[in-house]
Amino acid sequence: MKIGCPKEIKPQEFRVGVTPNAAGEAVAHGHEVVIETAAGLGAGFSDDDYLAVGAKILPSADEVFAQADMVVKVKEPQAVERKKLRKDQILFTYLHLAPDPEQTKDLLASGVTAIAYETVTDRAGGLPLLAPMSEVAGRLAPQVGAWTLQKANGGRGVLMGGVPGVGPARVIVIGGGVVGTHAAKIAAGMGADVTVLDRSLTRLRYLDDVFGGQFKTGYSSAGLLAELLPLADMVIGAVLIPGAAAPKLVTRRQLSIMKPGAALVDVAIDQGGCFETSKATTHQDPIYEVDGIMHYCVANMPGAVARTSTIALGNATMPFMLDLADKGWKQACADDPHLLNGLNVHAGKLTYAAVGEALGIET
Ligand code: NAD
Repeated sequence: MKIGCPKEIKPQEFRVGVTPNAAGEAVAHGHEVVIETAAGLGAGFSDDDYLAVGAKILPSADEVFAQADMVVKVKEPQAVERKKLRKDQILFTYLHLAPDPEQTKDLLASGVTAIAYETVTDRAGGLPLLAPMSEVAGRLAPQVGAWTLQKANGGRGVLMGGVPGVGPARVIVIGGGVVGTHAAKIAAGMGADVTVLDRSLTRLRYLDDVFGGQFKTGYSSAGLLAELLPLADMVIGAVLIPGAAAPKLVTRRQLSIMKPGAALVDVAIDQGGCFETSKATTHQDPIYEVDGIMHYCVANMPGAVARTSTIALGNATMPFMLDLADKGWKQACADDPHLLNGLNVHAGKLTYAAVGEALGIET
C-alpha cells in the first residue's frame, strides 16, 4: 500500500502524522511511504530523516493526496484538503466530526473511508489515540502553571518547590484521569504540595495505591473545593464527563476567596472549561487575569511541545497504521473491533452512531 503524509496546514499546527520511525517500519513491511516536503520540520524531522528510512519526498500536498492509498495526518482535513480526498482512499487522523457538519458533509461527498483517532478504543475501555495527548497536556500543565505564577507574568511570585525554610506551592488538581494524574505527578516532582480531587472512588483508590505519599487525594465536592481554594497557589482543571461540556466547578464569585495572583490552568478548556471565567486562549497569548487571578486556557496545549507530541502520537498510531496497510481497512477492522470503533465514514455513509446523533444524520 502507498501511505501518504501531507504537511499540516491548520494554523499553529507543527505536528506531523508519520514520524521517520513509523515511515521506516512501514517500508520494512513492504509499503511505500510518500511525505510532503518539509512536513516534519515543525516537529524537528527533516526530509533527509525520511529519505534515510526509505520514504520518498513529494513536492506538494496535491501529489501526496493523489498518490496515497491511505492518508495519515494529525488534524482533521481542512476544506482545501477535503477536496483532494477520493473514494477507495483511507483517511486516518483526528476528525472530531460531531461539532463539524461542514467537514462531515465533505467527507461523505468524497466517498473516502475515514477512521478517526479519537474513537479508536482499547481493551481497558480507554481511548489509546487520545491518551498520549492527555499525557502531554497533563505533564505540561504544572510547567505552564509555574510560569504563570511568576511575578512578571502577573502571578503570585511563588516557586513550586519552595526552598529550605520556605514552603512549596499548594496545587489542587480537579479530575484524576489521564491529564490529572500526569499533572499531579509532575507538580509533585517539582516539589509542590499536591491534592487531586475526583468523583470516582475507584480512581481515588487507584491513585492512593500507586501514588500515596507523593500527593493527597480528596473526593471532589463543592464543599471541599470551597475549603481548598483559599489555600491554593495553583488549580489545574482536568475533569471530563464523556460526551458533555465540562461542569463549571469554580465560579467567578469564588475567585475572591483565592489568593491574589494564584493561577488557574484549565486543561478542560477544549470541552468548554471547568472554571466559570475560562475562555480559550492561544500559545501566542496564553494568559489573562480576572479579579486578580491568572488564567491559562490554551485549547491545544500539546502543540507547544510539537516534537514530543508527534513522537507520542506516532508511537500510538503506528500499530494501527501498519495493520491498515498490511491487511487493508476491511480485514484490519474485521480482526480488531477497537479499530472498527474508529470507522466514522465509509462510501458516503456515516458509520459512527454518536456522530450521527449529534448531527441528525442517519448511520
Ligand atoms: P479522563 O476521562 O481520563 O479523566 C477525567 C476525570 O475527571 C475522571 O477521572 C473523572 O472521574 C473526573 N471527573 C469528572 N467529573 C468530576 C468532578 N466533578 N470533579 C472531579 N473529577 C471529576 O480525561 P482526560 O484524558 O484526563 O481529559 C481531561 C480533560 O482534558 C478533557 O476535557 C480533555 O478533552 C482535556 N484535554 C485538553 C487538552 C488541551 O490541550 N487543553 C489536551 C488533552 C486533553
